[in-house]
Amino acid sequence: MKFEDFKLSNELLRNIKEIGYEEPTDIQSRSIPLIIEGKDVIGESATGSGKTLAFGAIIAEKVIPNQGIQALVITPTRELANQVKDSLKLISKHKNLNITAIYGGVAIEPQMNILRRAEVVVSTPGRLCDHLQRNTVNLSKVNILVLDEADRMFEMGFIEDIETIIKSCPRERQNLFFSATISDNIRKLARKYMNDPVKVSANNIVDPEKLKQVYYNITRGMKLSLLVYLLEHEKAGLVMVFCNTRRNVDFIVKNLQHNKVKAIAIHGGLSQNKRNNTIELFNDAKVQVLVCTDVASRGLHIDNVSHVYNYDIPKNPKDYVHRIGRTARAGEEGKVINILSEEDHPNMSAILKEYTFKIEKMEKVMIERVNTIRIEEQRNFRRVPFHNKFKRGFSRQRQYSRH
Ligand code: ADP
Ligand code: MG
Repeated sequence: MKFEDFKLSNELLRNIKEIGYEEPTDIQSRSIPLIIEGKDVIGESATGSGKTLAFGAIIAEKVIPNQGIQALVITPTRELANQVKDSLKLISKHKNLNITAIYGGVAIEPQMNILRRAEVVVSTPGRLCDHLQRNTVNLSKVNILVLDEADRMFEMGFIEDIETIIKSCPRERQNLFFSATISDNIRKLARKYMNDPVKVSANNIVDPEKLKQVYYNITRGMKLSLLVYLLEHEKAGLVMVFCNTRRNVDFIVKNLQHNKVKAIAIHGGLSQNKRNNTIELFNDAKVQVLVCTDVASRGLHIDNVSHVYNYDIPKNPKDYVHRIGRTARAGEEGKVINILSEEDHPNMSAILKEYTFKIEKMEKVMIERVNTIRIEEQRNFRRVPFHNKFKRGFSRQRQYSRH
């Protein structure tokens, strides 16, 4: 399919071309024609598969300047709200719409003025509910309602806020729910609030031709040393290192820096300003290594990530899918490197029970243990001498492969 096959205006087609999209992705091909027809759509496809344009196209076509808030997009995180807003601006460039991202963690007053002028609002659920309560947002003109990453919003416990928001919109409206996975919760919400929805699913998850997944077995004490070694030896573009806890994120960033690898952190404990700066530094490739937790990274569309490292294996298999979805996007190649120690095996097994991935076992490499500093001590900038530099290999453990 080509973009020209959809009933889109010439202006929109030109914007799409200018952004650099040559042909629609699978989810775009399946959903845009239905959405343009005015149908309510539930769209299921993996992270990175191009869902933003799927709902962005109708917003660009339908919303009229100076007529109040006509399109509302709800996203689970602040970063995602910003990114969706930026994408929508590009998609609807010809109309010069007032598109705004609304989220918590920043002052609420300035948002009130902005909301008065907005035609498109991209918001996290909590802050929008605050505005509803204060009567500082008027949703009476909304005719397109989008839930982006609906599964994640359920996981984060936003359902009550979402229902409050939906009930504040006019009955006559088009509903579009997008998600990487469609759970029973989403189906229930759809039955309650959507009008005869059509469900479309894109060919999901990952293309094994493009995405190579490997693992190393190693003792816990040698994980950081292996990470440093691989970051130095693997030819890579932008790299994301995932951890299960904020504490590990801090530990790794400090210790990568200590070992002369430039890296930055993003997790929920950092201020919004700091997070925005971090994303910018990383997107501009000023720092090549981003260390993060699942929540903070969710939905970010950072291009050109060549490597995803799992320093810990996530407990929830879906998080693994979301992590690996950061790379090999839009037809590019990518590599996932899992650094496993004994503690990670139950989580890895759970993932492989749910998904069939081919994850190749890597040979032992002889590496040196690097110096590490504990994060508490880092505050005083004291260095802890570490003398036991000796060579160590990896222990042989379980094998992971496709069954
Ligand atoms: P999702 O919301 O499904 O995670 P996004 O909408 O964020 O995916 O898109 C992921 C990446 O793919 C973005 O960098 C986006 O610019 C790019 N992209 C989207 N549609 C296309 C397309 N048709 N061709 C090439 N790249 C695309
Ligand atoms: Mg998205």
